[in-house]
Amino acid sequence: MSRPTAIVIRRGAEESVRRGHPWIWREAIVKGVAKTGESVQIQSEAGQTIGSGLYDASSPIAVRVWSLGERAEPLAPNLFNKRIHRAFEKRATLFADGKTNAYRLLNGEGDRCPGFVIDRYADAAVLRLDGEAVEARASEFLPGLENALKTIGINTLLLRGRKKEAEVLFGEMPSKAIEVREHGVPFWADVKDGQKTGAFLDQRENRARVGDLVRERPEGKRRVLNLFSYAGGFSLHAALAGATVTSVDIAAQAHGTAQKSFQLAGVSPKAHSWATADAFAFLTEAKKRGESWDIVICDPPSFAPNEKAKVRALSAYRSLHKACVAVLAADGVFCAASCSSHVDAESFATTLDDATLEKADLTLTDFYGPPSDHPTLPAWPEGRYLKFAVMR
Ligand code: SAH
Repeated sequence: MSRPTAIVIRRGAEESVRRGHPWIWREAIVKGVAKTGESVQIQSEAGQTIGSGLYDASSPIAVRVWSLGERAEPLAPNLFNKRIHRAFEKRATLFADGKTNAYRLLNGEGDRCPGFVIDRYADAAVLRLDGEAVEARASEFLPGLENALKTIGINTLLLRGRKKEAEVLFGEMPSKAIEVREHGVPFWADVKDGQKTGAFLDQRENRARVGDLVRERPEGKRRVLNLFSYAGGFSLHAALAGATVTSVDIAAQAHGTAQKSFQLAGVSPKAHSWATADAFAFLTEAKKRGESWDIVICDPPSFAPNEKAKVRALSAYRSLHKACVAVLAADGVFCAASCSSHVDAESFATTLDDATLEKADLTLTDFYGPPSDHPTLPAWPEGRYLKFAVMR
């Protein structure tokens, strides 16, 4: 076998790679080019081997690091199989109680398999490939993946790629949405056309937390407003805990999916309110009508697609949060989420401070990051994109 291409990186980048950051930006490369999908050897300017990775000729992330050390193992089925085995083992422990059968099986970089994301939905799974480099190589790893997935009871694997339609990699295309459960709460996941791989699995623990927040409150003080409600996950957990829920989403079909999940859980959707509206406009109107809620949940789509958009995103979060607490009952709880990776936890906290909320009676009682099935790396802050703040 010929020696792998050497990619020489700058000193500053070297330190970050050694600490475990899995990305090498193109600007950090001093010397060396390779083909997209080629396994490369990462070298310091002093000529030392730092690790191995996968090269991408077109992405701003030129190399995704797979292994560290002077004798770094190049990416091959053997390494891939070891990594997925380890990731699957961790999930078997995390979800041993059987109450949850929709979760992230493999979290790309966070499971040291950069670019490969796999979500489980009962006995089916959905693979997402992030970038052309892994797309170019994926077929090599499919036999090992199929084997490992079948061992844990998964008999269908779909690929959700750049094409809008899901593709079957093995098994059979499910005929409709898949029925799954989270902490014992059932819901429908549309793995063929739904957002991401079918659901926002990263909010699972926060949905359960909202259920707990409702249960803590006296009956009569359980009115919940769920903004950006999508498939109604937060709404259903709240409803099952005894809340009367108003769900707001701009997409009518999202409410359709949510209502089907309510029925699945034996909760009548008619006992709750469903508003198809822009959340900002809804809040303005609700304020005018003098309406209020005991718990307000706000989980908008990412406001910052890139670093440049960060300032504008922070200002959007500020006006949104201010409008949310304007409809919050006097002893209410405000749950604010952000999934923008360009907005770090401390910056997000600035959108919830006293000056922003124009209210000095709320305190930050809980602040959560991504759940255990979405592991991150200490040196990779980008992985900790999810923030969930509880103010009361
Ligand atoms: N909270 C959800 C995920 C939210 S995803 C969960 O737990 O699963 C973001 C949702 O916001 C999408 O359903 C989208 O339709 C909706 N949305 C986007 N812009 C909106 C707006 N301006 N007003 C209301 N909803 C909006």
